[in-house]
Amino acid sequence: MKFLTLENGQLGVLLDDIVIDVVAAGRDLSVRPAADTLEALVQAGDKAIAPVRSLAQQALDKGCACRPFSEVKPMAPIPVPRRNILCLGKNYLDHAQEIAAKMQTSGEAPRQPIIFTKATTAVIAPGEPVPAYQAYTQKLDYEAELALIIGKDGRDIAAEDAWDHVFGYTAINDISARDLQKDHYQWFRAKSLDGFAPMGPVVVHRSVMPAPEDIEVKCFVNGEQRQSANFNQLIFDVPTIIAVLSAGMTLLAGDIIATGTPAGVGMGFTPPKYLQPGDEVVVDVTGVGELRNPVVA
Ligand code: MG
Repeated sequence: MKFLTLENGQLGVLLDDIVIDVVAAGRDLSVRPAADTLEALVQAGDKAIAPVRSLAQQALDKGCACRPFSEVKPMAPIPVPRRNILCLGKNYLDHAQEIAAKMQTSGEAPRQPIIFTKATTAVIAPGEPVPAYQAYTQKLDYEAELALIIGKDGRDIAAEDAWDHVFGYTAINDISARDLQKDHYQWFRAKSLDGFAPMGPVVVHRSVMPAPEDIEVKCFVNGEQRQSANFNQLIFDVPTIIAVLSAGMTLLAGDIIATGTPAGVGMGFTPPKYLQPGDEVVVDVTGVGELRNPVVA
């Protein structure tokens, strides 16, 4: 099952290429939906999945509350996360190596996950413009990433139980101002300007998540492929990330974890290929589809 947040903020279900408006379907079929937003569905837990699926299927069969996906302009799956997006840094070895020389950092694999956060106000929808902020940065960069959505609260989650706490996954573009990243030592500001977290368009539920080796994470700028990696290349895999992040700190249903970006970011090229106004950047994660955003002055 795939889910999305519709233009009106309410829950959509994607079945094949058709989007079902769950709230409208409930109205048409006189069924009270188990959740009316994607965030509410995540909070409701696994028990809400089957009834939402059943309602969506009935609506599809009857042809009500349905539209082709191409006619929908989704919002970010969770437009206003309840707290900062949790992010992994340097979680693909080839990316750690490409930035080592440029940032005067180590190209070794980190011994422990590198963790930082992005402000909730950075989140934007697919298609929404990323401001170039030329007054503040001359080094605007992209980072294609798979983002996990946590589905169940938990602390001290054992690696072997980690997947039980995952609702599903989506795509995120961890837009970064490389000069601010360096200037301020901590990465928070460089990663948190408004618009620096395009997310979506859909969330793939864990029940239909492909194996890590079958998930590709890609980025294209103006049609040119810049990044391409397999999700099984992570240095710290999903069970490890969740075990480490939840050690002594409660992970909450609805938390978003950006799992890191592969090689091919703009700063890794010589000369660098930073984003400019007029560019279009596409993050493509298997199952999620294209997260396409223009860059504007
Ligand atoms: Mg990143």
